[in-house]
Amino acid sequence: MTSLPVIPISPDVVAGAAASPRASMPPRHLADLDLSGRRELVTELGEPAFRAKQVSTHYFGRLVRDPAQMTDLPAAVRERLAEALLPTLLRPVREMVCDDGATRKALWRLHDNSLVESVLMGYPDRVTVCISSQAGCGMACPFCATGQAGLTRNLSTAEIIDQAVYLAGVAASGAVAGSPSRLSHVVFMGMGEPLANYARVIAAIRRLCAPAPEGLGLSQRHITVSTVGLVPAMRRLAGEGLSVTLALSLHAPDDDLRDELVPVNQRWKVAEVLDAAWDYAARTGRRVSIEYAMIKDVNDQPWRADLLGRLLAGRLAHVNLIPLNPTPGSRWDASPKPVEREFVRRLREAGVSTTVRDTRGREIDGACGQLAAAEEAP
Ligand code: SAH
Repeated sequence: MTSLPVIPISPDVVAGAAASPRASMPPRHLADLDLSGRRELVTELGEPAFRAKQVSTHYFGRLVRDPAQMTDLPAAVRERLAEALLPTLLRPVREMVCDDGATRKALWRLHDNSLVESVLMGYPDRVTVCISSQAGCGMACPFCATGQAGLTRNLSTAEIIDQAVYLAGVAASGAVAGSPSRLSHVVFMGMGEPLANYARVIAAIRRLCAPAPEGLGLSQRHITVSTVGLVPAMRRLAGEGLSVTLALSLHAPDDDLRDELVPVNQRWKVAEVLDAAWDYAARTGRRVSIEYAMIKDVNDQPWRADLLGRLLAGRLAHVNLIPLNPTPGSRWDASPKPVEREFVRRLREAGVSTTVRDTRGREIDGACGQLAAAEEAP
């Protein structure tokens, strides 16, 4: 491959702090607070504390986000609580559907006009949402559409959660034919690097998993956090006492290539990032998912399969090969199927469990790495 410029990663970018100076966080929302925080706020507003539970039951229990539909609240109360607890965070710009209704992409405009996207995917046995944790992304992976635009800002905890609650409501309405109506899985594989927005993402995970009406009542095991490999944050995550699945976007088994494909590798090398992954597996008992986009003539050589096999053999790991979804104007392509099959065969021969990810949402640019929100700002 032709060599790419080396993109320096500043500590600010890694910490998620290099957002534009104009970036502004949204107003507070009930999903930013735990139940006792909501009670406190409601009491400060001069309302009885039980109203906090009432509004929470609407939002997390019944997936009602519109205060106008909370008709068991007296109109005046509703208005006051809506203003303090239910500001509109996501304005739908467009929803697109494909795969016979089993995949749906939602594009949102945030209060500061930033755009983010989420994807709902129905399967016979489960419903998954893929959500964004940042507007844009600072990690600059050259094959990823989001990586090209840079980071605008971190999303708030409630902005992250509201994507899941909205799409859980869509699923509950029976819109995803042939799938359960209850949202069961959440993957942090939309726009952004979740571990660069660490505190808000952790709070969002805790709330997604808290039983209703405090949260959405999902199982921690059904949440996947995908990272480029921010080693200190991976180690911190291992100590949170959460049973979430960690996905590591490896994409190359050698530093030479990974320095280009995942520029943060210039700071934390393959050996360090895998060490942190194995520590995560050891501490949580959870199998780590190794993400590997198959890029024609770039990272798909048999010797790289063998090297990857040697690095992963005997580890609590599963390889998820992702056929590259070429971004517009990209000079890269997906590996041919026979090359992909040989890569799988070699990994399996090395004793590494390997699957190829489906390519849901391709027609609506909802597939991996295509969430670029290429809509013009007004
Ligand atoms: N920042 C996180 C999560 C977002 S991307 C991360 O990098 O893990 C989710 C997954 O999609 C990552 O594994 C990412 O490398 C992969 N991806 C990005 N662009 C892609 C593309 N064009 N084709 C296939 N996979 C892609």
